[in-house]
Amino acid sequence: MRYKGVFFDLDGTLLPVDLEEFIARYIEALTAKVAPHVEPQRFRKALLESTAKMMNNDGSRTNEEAFMEAFFARVDIEPRELVPVFEDFYRREYRLLGRGIQARPEARRAVELAAAGGAQVVLATNPLFPRMAVEVRLEWAGLDAFPFRHITTYENSRYCKPNPGYYADILAATGLRGEECLMVGNDTLEDLAAAELGFDTFLLEDFLIERGYPHAPTWRGGWGDLLDVLTGNG
Ligand SMILES: [Mg+2]
Repeated sequence: MRYKGVFFDLDGTLLPVDLEEFIARYIEALTAKVAPHVEPQRFRKALLESTAKMMNNDGSRTNEEAFMEAFFARVDIEPRELVPVFEDFYRREYRLLGRGIQARPEARRAVELAAAGGAQVVLATNPLFPRMAVEVRLEWAGLDAFPFRHITTYENSRYCKPNPGYYADILAATGLRGEECLMVGNDTLEDLAAAELGFDTFLLEDFLIERGYPHAPTWRGGWGDLLDVLTGNG
């Protein structure tokens, strides 16, 4: 295969899920979990504002640090009291949000094709979540056993998509250059931003999120088209 690195987005790409609908259910479940500790309206506001802070992280600290600092400045509870509640949420209630999600066999085929072609395979999911939440979503996608070379989470990332710094940090961690890589995703802004670093891009249209086209994708289409590209017939 021509690519030395193939990067895959998770939500709406490898994982067949409507992100907007999923996030709404996620916030509802997390708010209910935390309700004994933080009044729901206040919690939602703090969560949304802190997430926005994290999404604009400037690289000076991890996304986890950006989120936690903003969040705990907005609520009257100590991290040592609430962080264990978050962790318990990801171990229990979060898992229930995956009911009804059917893994796509093509997703496994795609990562296996990329690896078989000699590429480093990266899970380039927007790093807004802790590692344990990413791992649960990988289980839903049927990919928890796949040996990704690198997985971005809020603990190991300092930027969010579409900041080019997000992609630059992965290149630095893997020793790849953008020109050697393909980014596969379903979001015209967040995923196609990899083109700024010289990546080729594939826009997967099953759960397409259109936010304008700052960069035209190299390819676009469905799973069949992507598998063709990965087998070198693109
Ligand atoms: Mg996505």
